[in-house]
Order: sequence, then structure tokens, then C-alpha cells
Amino acid sequence: MSMSRQRLIADLRRGGITDERVLAVMTSMPREAFVSQTFVERAYDNMALPIGFGQTISQPLVVAAMTQALEVGERMKVLEIGTGSGYQAAILGRLARRVFTIERYKMLSKEAERRLLDLRVHNVVFHVGDGTRGWPPQAPYDRIIVTAAAGDVPQALIDQLAVGGIMLVPVGADPVNQSVERIVKTEDGITREKLMPVRFVPLVAGALPTYDG
Ligand code: SAH
Repeated sequence: MSMSRQRLIADLRRGGITDERVLAVMTSMPREAFVSQTFVERAYDNMALPIGFGQTISQPLVVAAMTQALEVGERMKVLEIGTGSGYQAAILGRLARRVFTIERYKMLSKEAERRLLDLRVHNVVFHVGDGTRGWPPQAPYDRIIVTAAAGDVPQALIDQLAVGGIMLVPVGADPVNQSVERIVKTEDGITREKLMPVRFVPLVAGALPTYDG
């Protein structure tokens, strides 16, 4: 393992990541494959990096902390909203049975799909569209993770979460006042709990114009 990857794992441990499965997957996943040539040297810095279209690959500690809090089991079906670079999806792919990931930029989705093929992650299914509506054909999901900040939790996602399932979603329209909430679906509703402060790009509802490629 390279020095920089080792240092990153040490940072994650110091940041409170204790789940050995999560640490193992983050150790084996080459983050440099998810960023452009311009940022390869910073791939193992604990920071978000640009991926085009004004979007970012999330900070590794945030990816690790959310993945740990999601408590993904190897037989689970997971839905991710906000494919971005595909980094979070690849990590989930290594932990779950199947992952469905939705992205509104077709170009980002296609690039992410190619990266995962190159890395031989074959259990992630990509869709282009508005993730605030979820992906009804495969519902219900054991786990749902939203990797963009919502003004409030989209009802469609609550509807598509299995009873007993966990959803993580950054909530807060104001970027300096966002926190990841952990939502658990029960027989008679949901419970909500704030986990940690974060800074995500916004979750944008609605379809895109077609010129994004
Ligand atoms: N999980 C990504 C980081 C995502 S950044 C990674 O590991 O790299 C957030 C992503 O959410 C962006 O790519 C953005 O285009 C996407 N997004 C924002 N609103 C969306 C929506 N309504 N539906 C689907 N994707 C959305």
C-alpha cells in the first residue's frame, strides 16, 4: 500500500472509523481512479475534490463515516442518490449484494460506470435521472444513502425504504449548516437523528436540460 493511502487510513481511524470492513474496503479502493489527472496527487488528501459540472467527490472521512453509519450487510440492496465520481458506489458495491445509483448528469454517470467496470465492481447498476424520486422498480431498499444536501428528506425515498431499513441524508439548504441525518423506518413511521455536520453540494430536484451530454 502506498504511503499516502496508509496515511489516509490512519486519518480515518483517528476520525473515529472503527468498522474493519469499511477500513479494508477504503484501503483497497484506489481513490486516484475517481479523480481527473489534475488532482491525482491530492487523491489521498482528506478533502473533497472537483469532478466537473460543479460537483465534487466527497471527503474520504465523510464517505467512511456515512458508510459505517449505514451498517451495510453483504446481502443488502442499497440505493444511492448522487453517483458523482462513483467512489461511494464502488465502496458500497464491495459491501452489499447490489447497489442502484442515480445521477442527474449523464456524463458523470457514464464515467463512473466505466471506472467501476475497470475496477471489476460488477454489482452496481447506474441510472440517469432525478434521484429525489428514488428508483421505484427495485424498491424497497434495505439501505438508502443520499450524497447531496436536501432541503428536506424526499418522501419518495422514505416510501422506498424497507421497514427496519436505514437511510442517511444530508439535510440543510444552507451549506454552512448541514447535517447528515439517520432515518430509520419503523412499522408506524420514521425516527430521525442528526449524526454529523457536513458540506455537500445541493440535491437538485427535476430533470436536466439535454445539453449536458
Ligand atoms: N457520491 C459521489 C459524490 C456526489 S456529489 C462520489 O462518491 O463521488 C453529489 C452528486 O449528486 C452530484 O454528482 C450531483 O450531480 C448529484 N445530484 C444532485 N441532485 C441530484 C438528483 N436530484 N438526482 C440525482 N443526482 C443528483
